[in-house]
Amino acid sequence: MTFREALSGAAEKLRKAEILFCDTPMLDASVLLAEAADMSREKLFASYPDTVSPEVLAEYEKLLEKRLSGLPVSYIRNRKEFFGREFYVDSSVLVPRPDTEVIIEKALQLLERSSAVLDLCTGSGCIAATLKLEQPDLSLTASDISKPALTVASRNADALDAKISFAESNLFENISGRFDMIVTNPPYLKTGETDGMTTSGWPEPMLALDGGGDGLDLIRIIIITSLDYLNDNGYLLIEAGPQQAEVISALLQDAGFSDIEITHDMAGRNRVTSGRVCGTHNNEI
Ligand code: GLN
Repeated sequence: MTFREALSGAAEKLRKAEILFCDTPMLDASVLLAEAADMSREKLFASYPDTVSPEVLAEYEKLLEKRLSGLPVSYIRNRKEFFGREFYVDSSVLVPRPDTEVIIEKALQLLERSSAVLDLCTGSGCIAATLKLEQPDLSLTASDISKPALTVASRNADALDAKISFAESNLFENISGRFDMIVTNPPYLKTGETDGMTTSGWPEPMLALDGGGDGLDLIRIIIITSLDYLNDNGYLLIEAGPQQAEVISALLQDAGFSDIEITHDMAGRNRVTSGRVCGTHNNEI
């Protein structure tokens, strides 16, 4: 069997499979074949007419079975690229999304060189590690409620040589001190949305996805509590779903934030809402 035949057969199987989030069957098939053959995707495309060895084919079948059972490609390969770097991932963390890269760009645009930054709900650590590596003078603290997630995040920080202080903390519970910026990609899906994912056996941690009835349970707490952890003129940057940005802007305004902005992701959807603390604010609401 040639590489071309192996690929089109696998893509066909994936196309017919009734699994969640399998909208790129050809891409998934080629990433997994490149993985099985231990070659780059460029090399794979150049090898289309060549015969696949039985060993590679057997390995490919194994990887494909995992994908057909619903595992995302990133969990099968235990890695995902984010902002040009590779992060280790497993089912204790959310797979970094390209949508989240916009929070990095926005943060870098707003940050002073040596600011103190807190990444709340760090998960794989992709935001904290990327900020530290893009701007080495920053001082980074990253927290998560999940111990297994923190294990992944510190593994990534070590592998990428990014110096970060980690804290196991339910939101701000074990956080002390003040920061010039708080960035967060908290759970923000509505419970109605995550219910369907749970029933279909989606393997990402619901703890990292489920934001309650309207998806904003944690975001409300973060907005109010962040006032006790931000320096004057400090920024709060929140990633959320496109439909939530307007409500988050209003919540920031009610809490006394100024310079409120909504930043779009690469697909042009509202993705990050940010605000700055200055002077009097209101954390009574
Ligand atoms: N953007 C993610 C998704 O759509 C949700 C991430 C989150 O809840 N933090 O799956």
